[in-house]
Amino acid sequence: MIRPILIHPDPRLKKVCPPVSDVTDDLRVLADDMLETMYDAPGIGLAAPQVGMMTRMIVLDCVKDGAAEPRPLVMVNPRILSASDERNVYEEGCLSIPEQYADVERPAEVEVEWLDRNGNLQREGFGGLWATCVQHEIDHLDGKLFIDYLKPMKRQMITRKMVKLKKEMARA
Ligand SMILES: [Zn+2]
Repeated sequence: MIRPILIHPDPRLKKVCPPVSDVTDDLRVLADDMLETMYDAPGIGLAAPQVGMMTRMIVLDCVKDGAAEPRPLVMVNPRILSASDERNVYEEGCLSIPEQYADVERPAEVEVEWLDRNGNLQREGFGGLWATCVQHEIDHLDGKLFIDYLKPMKRQMITRKMVKLKKEMARA
C-alpha cells in the first residue's frame, strides 16, 4: 500500500523516533509499504517518520541503473558504527522536501549495523551514494533533515517554499 508522504514543515519530521523492540509482522507490513511508496515516488530512501510512523526503520535502494537488479534494504534500528575522515559532497533531495536540492557534505564511507526484516543483526560498509543515502535516512530518525546542514538563509527560503506548496496542495 502506498502511504502519503509528510511534507516539511511537520512536527513529526522533527522528532526523535524511539527504537524498535520487536520485529513483528506489523513492522514488516510497514516496511513493504515504505518500499512501495519509495519506488512509486520515485526515491532512493525513505524513513518511517516520513509516512507518519514514529519508529526507527528506514528503507533504501540506491541501484540507479534501471537494468540492474534492485537491492531493497530494510534497516531496523540502524546505527553508524564508524565513519571515514574522508568526506563527500552530494546534491541531496528529500521526498518530504519535493524538488529542492542542495549540496551536503558527509563522511564518504560509513559502517552501519541494523536489524533486517527477520530481526537478524547485519553489518555492512557503504560508500558513494549508498553512504550518503543511509546517513540522510538515519538523520530522519533523529528529527534531522538535509536542509539542517544548510545556511539559515537557504534553509528558510526552502521552508517558505514548502509552506506555500502545502497551502496549494491543501486547496487542490
Ligand atoms: Zn529525506
